[in-house]
Amino acid sequence: MSATRVRAAALLIVLALAASCAPPLPSGAHTGVPRDPAGTPAPPEEPGLPASPGDPQGPEPPVPADDPQGPQAPQPEAPDASPERPGDPSEGTQEPPAQDPRGQEDPARDPLPEVPEGEPSRLVVHGDRSCSMVALTYDAGSGADGAEAILDVLREHGLQVTFFLTGRWAEQFPDLARRIADEGHEIANHTYSHPDLTTIPDEEVLQQIRDGEEAIRAATGRDPRPLFREPYGAFSEHERRLVRAAGYSYSIYWDVDTLDWTFPGVEATTERILRAQGGSIVLMHLNVADSAAATAAAIPVLQARGYEIVPVSRLLQCTADEPA
Ligand SMILES: [Zn+2]
Repeated sequence: MSATRVRAAALLIVLALAASCAPPLPSGAHTGVPRDPAGTPAPPEEPGLPASPGDPQGPEPPVPADDPQGPQAPQPEAPDASPERPGDPSEGTQEPPAQDPRGQEDPARDPLPEVPEGEPSRLVVHGDRSCSMVALTYDAGSGADGAEAILDVLREHGLQVTFFLTGRWAEQFPDLARRIADEGHEIANHTYSHPDLTTIPDEEVLQQIRDGEEAIRAATGRDPRPLFREPYGAFSEHERRLVRAAGYSYSIYWDVDTLDWTFPGVEATTERILRAQGGSIVLMHLNVADSAAATAAAIPVLQARGYEIVPVSRLLQCTADEPA
């Protein structure tokens, strides 16, 4: 079996979490994942369920201009929650990609395997728990108050992470968007203007994704595929079919929500980042100034705990057998 096939198989194992349907876990069923003191249920440990109702609104900062519903979001579909890993787990071994993401036009990849046409995008809540890697992710919100300082911190530490940009943000802050690209970070699509994709017609969903992609390309020269993140974390299977149809195989959720958009302060945000465990995807926002200081405080602690901080695509390439 070729390395590519092995990698694809391994990834499918990790992501199979999203592929099988199981009844939503009761909120009390969470295991092992640090609870969110703010009362927002943390996604469950295993198959990374995005959350129970009430969680999806957490992820987003208030974006009045874009968001008629405020931070509210519709309840996501019961996420696919089987802890089982269909597919062939025996194939889950692979060598880590040798390339150094830094300074590459397209950081951190070896391409991820594509989800077949006609299927929904893969919902990813976290990577393989046995990988000592954490993905810090930053979404473009309605401003850029924290963006420069966040980039400074990441540069100081020589780290590349993943930024989920809206097309509108890339248009409003082209210099920052360019800097994100120039400094080797991974750039992913977060729509053009951040609507709730579960409430608008199909053609508008597709247009939002394409317009976002086009604006990101114009600002950064980067192709944001294949990583997509739904505004408000609001998704459905139908919506994910549209995401896949638009060229995005992965809908990237998170298992650690810092709730930074509620402006809880540096300390609280840092504490939430530090709930990350192996394979975690941590959600923060570029419009929150405190998120820079929280990032700065959390990085050395995560590293001291043995975690490598990586872009999402790199996290998804890691499998249980890879020494991280
Ligand atoms: Zn967002």
